[in-house]
Amino acid sequence: MGTYADKGDEAALLDAVDQFIERDVRPFARKFEADDSYPKEIADRLSQLGLFGATIGGEYGGLGLSARIYTRIVERVSACWMSISGIFNSHLIAANAVERFGTEEQKQRWLPMMARGEMRGGIALTEPDCGTDLQAIRTEAARDNDGLVINGTKMWITNSMYGNFLAVLVVTNPIAEPRHRGMSLVLVEKQDGYETSKLEKLGYNGIDTGSVHFNNTRVPADNLIGMEEGKGLQQVLVGLELGRINIAARGVGLARACLEESIAYSQLRKAFGKPICNHQAIQFKLADMATRLEAARLLVERAAHAYDDGIRCDMEAGMAKLFASEAAIQNSIEAMRIHGAYGYSKEYNIERYYRDAPLLAIGEGTNELQRIIIARQLIEKSKAD
Ligand SMILES: Cc1cc2nc3c(=O)[nH]c(=O)nc-3n(C[C@H](O)[C@H](O)[C@H](O)COP(=O)(O)OP(=O)(O)OC[C@H]3O[C@@H](n4cnc5c(N)ncnc54)[C@H](O)[C@@H]3O)c2cc1C
Repeated sequence: MGTYADKGDEAALLDAVDQFIERDVRPFARKFEADDSYPKEIADRLSQLGLFGATIGGEYGGLGLSARIYTRIVERVSACWMSISGIFNSHLIAANAVERFGTEEQKQRWLPMMARGEMRGGIALTEPDCGTDLQAIRTEAARDNDGLVINGTKMWITNSMYGNFLAVLVVTNPIAEPRHRGMSLVLVEKQDGYETSKLEKLGYNGIDTGSVHFNNTRVPADNLIGMEEGKGLQQVLVGLELGRINIAARGVGLARACLEESIAYSQLRKAFGKPICNHQAIQFKLADMATRLEAARLLVERAAHAYDDGIRCDMEAGMAKLFASEAAIQNSIEAMRIHGAYGYSKEYNIERYYRDAPLLAIGEGTNELQRIIIARQLIEKSKAD
């Protein structure tokens, strides 16, 4: 993967992202969110900024950003409206699978279109009966003369309605033991037999989350990532390292927004003759929020560095995801308390942060699963010593 090596370029890109947020996102976020309507113009601007190709290598038309810079972008966007981040984050997990595991021909065919944002998509793993336990998936892809025929249902799939492709985890050999040896990852374009329906959510509005029904959906055999059956789960799990670091960066963004808005509000709001920031109970909250934020950011940076160095980093990514998502949840609760009734009101952003934050403890592997991953690594490492 290429990198955006020049520091001047990085600073210019971060400036452009900041301008985009202030001009194109902030003034519209509340309305799109309240209506739960898809922000198509904002998504198109993401494409102009090159963010659909943020982590795709320069040789395939992407920006080739390091995880370190990518997470700073995700933090910035999420500090304004987390849903916008999801539009390119899920897409890039699918692109990452193609770039790491696809054949050269698949990379040449798919990645430039993905980088330009002409092909926009996501990753479809979860099903109505399973999410954490991916070995229990049932969506099947059967071989047919000239390709694969897919049947089954995926659930909670980001970008499934307004995107035009998904990387779908399917069972290609139902009798394989262990089951993951019969799983493959397939790129599926929108077509007949690919039906979606929108799911209503607590938060993370605006972005499309849907169920996807595959009904005899046909794809050419060369849409199988790596042209090899039985590697799908492994391909997905490696891709989730970047996915978890990006969820953690969203947590940092959300935790930061909660803190910044609480600091500002606590200086304006007066109680008992003085701004509430002069009451020690509020100061304690601000101090804890800032400390959580800083610790979360450091864990994200550490995980991003390990990822950029090409080191296995499921433990670092898991720790960052676990801590930063809980920091976002905690900071949203404290922000609401600091804002009093205004925190509960639709006039302020705090109630949105409070509704958006819990997703971070669920998506890309629940926090219970992160604890399991971290503990397994600790034990493995202790045995190796
Ligand atoms: C808004 C939104 C967007 C999403 N986007 C996508 C997407 O784009 N693509 C996609 O594939 N999925 C997506 N998901 C699904 C998400 O990844 C799953 O919800 C998540 O993996 C958890 O799966 P589950 O909901 O089936 O919970 P389950 O797996 O049923 O888990 C239920 C509870 O049991 C716990 N649990 C399960 N196994 C264990 C264990 N071994 N030990 C201890 N506790 C355990 C879990 O931690 C959880 O607390 C999205 C979900 C949401 C809400």
